Amino acid sequence: MERISTEAGEQEQPESIEALRQSEQLFRALIEKSFDAIVLLDHQGIMRYVSPSIERILGHTPEELLGRTPFEFVHPDDREQTMQAFAALMQDPATSVTVEYRSPHKDGSIRWMEGVGTNLLHDPKVGAIVGNFRDITERKELEQRKDEFIGMASHELKTPITSLKGFTNLLQRRFLKEGDEEALSLLDRMDKQIDKLTRLINEMLDISRIQTGKLEYHEEPFDLAQLVQEVMGNVQGTSRTHRLLLEEQTHVQVVADRDRIGQALINLLTNAIKYSPGADTVIIRLSASESEAHVSVQDFGIGIAREHQQKIFERFYQITSAEEKTFAGLGIGLYLSNEIIKRHHGRLWVESEKGKGATFHFTLPLVNK
Ligand code: ADP
Repeated sequence: MERISTEAGEQEQPESIEALRQSEQLFRALIEKSFDAIVLLDHQGIMRYVSPSIERILGHTPEELLGRTPFEFVHPDDREQTMQAFAALMQDPATSVTVEYRSPHKDGSIRWMEGVGTNLLHDPKVGAIVGNFRDITERKELEQRKDEFIGMASHELKTPITSLKGFTNLLQRRFLKEGDEEALSLLDRMDKQIDKLTRLINEMLDISRIQTGKLEYHEEPFDLAQLVQEVMGNVQGTSRTHRLLLEEQTHVQVVADRDRIGQALINLLTNAIKYSPGADTVIIRLSASESEAHVSVQDFGIGIAREHQQKIFERFYQITSAEEKTFAGLGIGLYLSNEIIKRHHGRLWVESEKGKGATFHFTLPLVNK
C-alpha cells in the first residue's frame, strides 16, 4: 500500500510541476506580450518588475527602470499629481487609482500616459502594487484638437449671435412704439431663444478655456445673499411652471468671481426646473458657518440614482434611459459648475434618490478677516 501511494505521488508530482510551469509560461507570455506595460512596485514605489512593452512606449528597457521609481519618468508638472495618486493607493489597500500624466520618451518627445495602479501589497500571492501603463498620446491629441475646434467654433458663433440679439432688441423697440402686441410676443420668444443659444455658446467656450487652462477668474468681495436673489429673479423670469422659494437666507460676504458663481447657481436652478416637470416648486437655502457659506437647491423631480451621482459632474455626461431621453442638453452645465466651485476651493455635491427629487449643495470658504 505504502509503495503504491508513493509511486502515485511520484508520478503526480512531475505532472503538476509541468502544469504549473506551463501555466506560468502562459501568464508570463500574457504579461510580456501585453500591449500595455505592466509594472510591479514595492511599498516604497520602487519598480521591481517591468514588462518589455515599456520599451515600445517610452524607449527605455526594463533594465533601465528596475530599482528606480516611476516618478522619475514623469514630467515635472505632473509629478505631484502622480505621487498623490500613489499615496492614495498606499492608504487604501485593494483600491485602484487612475492617473493621466505626461512622460518624456527616451527620444525626447513627450508621451501622454494613463496609469492604473492597484494595491495588492497585502495579497500574499502578489505582494506588490500592480501598475498598468498605456500610451494615450493619440487620444489626448485628438481631444486637444476637438477642444481647440470647439473653442474656435464657439468664438466664431458669438459675432453673428450678438448682432441677432441687437437687431431683435431694435425690432422690439420699434414694435413697442407701434403697439404691435403679437409681433412683440413673437420677438420676446425669439429673444429668449437667442439668450439660450448665447448661454450654450458661452458654455462651450468655457469648456475649451478650462481644457486649455485659460478660464480666468476675477475675484471680488460681495454679498452672496444678494447674488442668490438676483439669480433667482432672473431664472424665475424664464419659468411659468415653477416657483422658486428662498426658504432660508443669511447675509454673508464672500470673495469670489461673482459672475462665475452666478453661472453655477443658474445651472443648478435651471436643472432643478428642467428635471422636475411634474413639480412646481424649487427651494433654495443659503446658510453660513464660521468657515463656509452653504447654498442648496432642492427640487421634487425625477431624482438621480446613486450610480450616476458622481458621474453627472463629468464632462458631457448625461443620464440616458427611456424616461430621461426627453431632456435636451449637452451635459456640460454641472461639469462647469463643479470646475467653478472647485476653483474657489468649495465643494459641489448632490443628495438624491431616484424618483424623489434632488438637492444640490455647494459651499464656498469664507475668508477670515
Ligand atoms: P444637461 O442638463 O445639459 O444634460 P448637466 O451637466 O447640467 O447637463 O447635467 C448632467 C446630467 O445630470 C443631466 O443630463 C441629468 O441627467 C442629470 N441632472 C442634473 N441635474 C439634475 C436634477 N436636478 N435632477 C435630476 N437629474 C439631474
